[in-house]
Amino acid sequence: MADKTEKRVAVVTGASRGIGAAIAEALAAQGRHVVLVARNADKLNEVKAAIEAAGGEASVMTCDMSDGEAVVKLIEDVADQHGRLDILVNNAGITRDNLLLRMSEAEFDDVIAVNLRSVFLACKTALRPMMRGKWGRVINISSVSGLVGNAGQSNYAASKSALLGFTKSLGKEMAAKNITANVVAPGFIETDMTDVLPDVVKDGAKAATPVKRFGKPEEIAGAVAYFASENASYTTGQVIAVDGGMTMC
Ligand code: NAP
Repeated sequence: MADKTEKRVAVVTGASRGIGAAIAEALAAQGRHVVLVARNADKLNEVKAAIEAAGGEASVMTCDMSDGEAVVKLIEDVADQHGRLDILVNNAGITRDNLLLRMSEAEFDDVIAVNLRSVFLACKTALRPMMRGKWGRVINISSVSGLVGNAGQSNYAASKSALLGFTKSLGKEMAAKNITANVVAPGFIETDMTDVLPDVVKDGAKAATPVKRFGKPEEIAGAVAYFASENASYTTGQVIAVDGGMTMC
C-alpha cells in the first residue's frame, strides 16, 4: 500500500445531498481529501465539482450501504487506493416511518441495515487503516429521535439510539490508539428527508424548537468538522445535539 498523499483522507457516506454534502464540503475546506459515497453517481459528481470549484479535493465511490459486502469492500478499496483512511463519517441514513402497530419487518430491517449495520461494518473495517496511521476520527450521525424517541419512528429511533452505545463502546476500545469516536445528533434540518413531511408536522417541529426554525446542513457540518479536527484529540465518546435547543434540559 503506497502512501500517495500526505493529506488526511475522509470518507463521508450519504454525501450526494443534504447533510452529507455539507459535511463533505466542510471537511474539504479543512484540507482533507474527501471520498464521497452514496448510490447516485451523478449527484456525487456534482458535489465533487462544487468542492473542486472551492479549491478542495474529492473523489467519488458508489456504494449501497444496505449491502454489507459492498460496505466492507468500499472501505478496503479506499484504504488501498489512498494508502490511508483517517476520518470516517457515517451519515447515510433512511426513514421508513410507520406506527409500530402497522410496521412491517421489512420497514424495520431496511432501516437497521442502512442506519446501523453499515456503521458497524464500516467502522470495523476502517479501524485497521486508522490503527496503521496511529490516528483516526469516527463521527456517526444520529438524530434527536435517537435521544428522545419519536412517534412513527420506532425503527429509525432504535437505529439512531443504538449508535450512541455503539460509538461510546468504540471510543472506549480505541482511545489509547489515538482514534476518537463521537456522535452528532441533528434536530430537524432542511433536506430532502424533512421536505416530504406534511406542513402540520413541520410547523409542530418548529414550535417545539426553541430557535423556532429548522437547521441548515452547514450547521451540522460545523459540529462534524470539530470532531474531525486535529484539536479534537481529547474528545471521545461524546454526543452533541445540534437541534436548535429541542432536547435542551
Ligand atoms: P437525505 O437528504 O435523505 O440524504 C440521505 C443521503 O444518504 C443521500 O446522500 C443518499 O444518497 C444516502 N443514502 C440513502 N440510502 C443509502 C444507501 N442505501 N446507500 C448509500 N447511500 C444512501 O438525508 P439527510 O437529511 O441529509 O440526512 C443525513 C443523515 O442525517 C441521516 O443519517 C439522517 O438520519 C440524519 N438526520 C437527518 C435529520 C434531518 O432533519 N434531515 C435529522 C436527524 C438526523 P443516495 O440516495 O444517492 O444513495
